Parts: sequence; structure tokens; C-alpha cells
Amino acid sequence: MIIVKRTCCSFLSALLLTLMTSSCYAQQPVAEKEIDPTLTEVWEPEPRVVQSGETHTPPSDAIILLGDDGLGAWQAAYSDEAAGWDYSDGTMTVVKGKGDIKTKQKFTDVQLHIEWRSPQTIEGEGQGRGNSGVFFQEIYEIQILDSYQNRTYSNGQAGAIYKQHMPLVNAMNPTSEWEVYDIIFTAPRFNKDGVKISSAYVTVIHNGVVIHNHQEIYGTTEYRGWPKNSAHGAGSIKLQDHGNPVQFRNIWVREL
Ligand code: MG
Repeated sequence: MIIVKRTCCSFLSALLLTLMTSSCYAQQPVAEKEIDPTLTEVWEPEPRVVQSGETHTPPSDAIILLGDDGLGAWQAAYSDEAAGWDYSDGTMTVVKGKGDIKTKQKFTDVQLHIEWRSPQTIEGEGQGRGNSGVFFQEIYEIQILDSYQNRTYSNGQAGAIYKQHMPLVNAMNPTSEWEVYDIIFTAPRFNKDGVKISSAYVTVIHNGVVIHNHQEIYGTTEYRGWPKNSAHGAGSIKLQDHGNPVQFRNIWVREL
């Protein structure tokens, strides 16, 4: 029964993604709250497992977003308050309920290095285990999740461009170890009428393994429904409070 459901969802998801890339999908009349979120889950194929290596220190021209100086580069995502997450010795930890945080500085095209680690006590499963996310310009999510031996929909596992593209492979380390994302993000462009004239693109390297190679981002990475493409300018890098105490360290960015 589960297999039948997943196959069906996979078909419907493919259909939805086809609609997304057509010129008419933006005029869909369906109310968002009525959309079944499982319609955009893709379960097959499951990216195969690959193992890999070591981390990086910041290059000389990097902007340090998280190092030895606390949370000064960050603030609450939806107010002017300070970032409410824990910080100790270079490591930042999500505090459940404190909400998403974002960089004070806004960016367009960037190279981002970010290290993260799932909670050391394994709790929950699927999307409920070690969930966070790194959002470019606050609206384009690369998923952070404990995807080490933790099945969920493929386009929602760690490294996924959420609900749009699954990672090429699963490069996760075991749960107790640090993960490294090196991400090259090219922002979308809009003309003076607010029409998108160039999509966002992203290349993602997870623990030294390419999991997205100049992949198009169709628009905002929605939990329900299809991407949106409202015009915007530079934006912050946002990290998600999904209720799990995910940890971060050694975050730096280079503007491109
Ligand atoms: Mg997430």
C-alpha cells in the first residue's frame, strides 16, 4: 500500500514539476491550504550513499559569519531582535522556539561555506530528525537534515533543493560527525517590470562531493505547492529553527 502511494505521489510530483516549468503554472487557481503537501514529495529513486573527507578554513577575502566572535553577524529573521540561538566556543545551536535567524548583511551571488551537525541524541525520523535549512535570500532552501540512515522523500533529504531537486548522491557522515556544505549560489534576476528574466542557480558540494551541478532553482522552495517568483533584490542568508537542536560552526561567505 505504501509502495503504491509513493509511486502515485512520484507520478503526481513529476506532473507538478512539469507544470512548474510551463508558462501557465503561475496562474493555478487552487488555494494553497487545500494542496496536499505529499503531492510534491518524490521518493524514487533514492540517492545512493557516498563517503568523503575534510573541511576548509576561510580564505583571506571571506566574510566571517560564524567564528570566534559570537552571533554578531546574525539577528532574528522576522524582527529586529538579536539572534536567540545558543553560542559557545565557535559553535551555534538552534534553540527550539527562538525562530529562524538571518544574516544582518544581504547578499546576491555568493560562495558559502557552512558546517553543521545533527543532534547527538537521535530522536524522531524522516523530516523530524535534525531538520534545519540554509536559505539563500531567505527564500531558497538547501535542506539540512539528519539523512544518515534516515529515509524521507528524496527531494526533502539533506542537500535537496527543497521539493525541487534531490541531491545527486547521499554524502552524509554518521550522525555524530560534522557535515560541510560548500555552495555557489547565483541569484535570480528580474527586469524593471518585476518579471524574472534569469533563474537562480546553485552548485552544492557536500563533504567534498558534488550533489548539485549548476542546478536551476525554479523559484521559492515551498512546503506546499509550487515555486513562486516575486521580484526581489539582495537578501539575507537564513537558517531554520525546525525544532531540532542542530549545531553550526565555521560559516563564511564570499561575494561573487
Ligand atoms: Mg528544513
